[in-house]
Parts: sequence; C-alpha cells; structure tokens
Amino acid sequence: MKRNMIVPLAIAAASIFVVSSAQAQGIPDAVPCVVSINGAQFFVPQQPGMISAWAQTQFWNGYPTITYGQMYFQLSPLLRRFTSFHECGHASTGNPDEFAANCYALDNGNFSCAQISVIRKFYQSRGPVAPQYGGTGANFWAGTLAQCPQYSNC
Ligand SMILES: [Zn+2]
Repeated sequence: MKRNMIVPLAIAAASIFVVSSAQAQGIPDAVPCVVSINGAQFFVPQQPGMISAWAQTQFWNGYPTITYGQMYFQLSPLLRRFTSFHECGHASTGNPDEFAANCYALDNGNFSCAQISVIRKFYQSRGPVAPQYGGTGANFWAGTLAQCPQYSNC
C-alpha cells in the first residue's frame, strides 16, 4: 500500500517541475509570471492561442492563464517583453484596468528610460484603439502616466 502512495507523489513532483520550467517556454520574450493565490505560489501558464488580442489574461476558478495571439509574435522583442509584463500585471493583481497593467509592467520590467521612450513612441504613434485603452494610442500612454507619473520623463 505504501508503494501506491509513493508513485502518485513522484508523478505530482514531476508535474510541478514541468509546469514551473515550461510555463513561458515557446513564447519569445515572455517572462515567468508567478502569482500568490491563497498564500501559495502559482506559476501562471502561458500559451499561444487563436485570439485577436496581442495577449490576454483569463481567470479559471481564480487561476490566471496568459494567452498570446498572432500579433504578439509580430512585435519587437522589447514590445513583447513589455506586453508579457503587462499581462502578468493583470494576472497578479486581478485588476482588468489597462493603464494599471502598463504601470505594473513599468514597475517590474526593469526597463531603461531609453527603452521606455521606445515603448512610449510606439504607443503614441498608434491610431484608434479600443475604449479600454483610452481610444487612441496617445491616450493609452497618457492614461498610463496618469497612474504612474514617475515615468513621465522618459
Ligand atoms: Zn491588458
């Protein structure tokens, strides 16, 4: 009977290893995203998917999953990394606010001011975007800086 106990534990340990080492694998420039749920660390699964958004975070029974759409893979490595941190912001805070997710990315991505300037110009040069992003790329960045003005000099 004890032998039966050991086998499932070994399988469980192997599963945890696979999840923790592969959660961002195959997604270029995606960053590991670890969130705390009920006091336990949870490695957020990250996967490609057939979605129109660059990326999105969905919650299943309170547990987040990040999915990356085709557009994500067309972005520059810098913008992909920023987008990945943005999604991890949604995943770790549960906050759907797009400006707050940008601030999370800026706070946690360890970007240089020069890199932030590139990200800023990319968004400011974009035309219409969905209302939750402020309606235009310029508004998207303005709304971001309204929540984290410490990056206004970049
Ligand atoms: Zn978002």
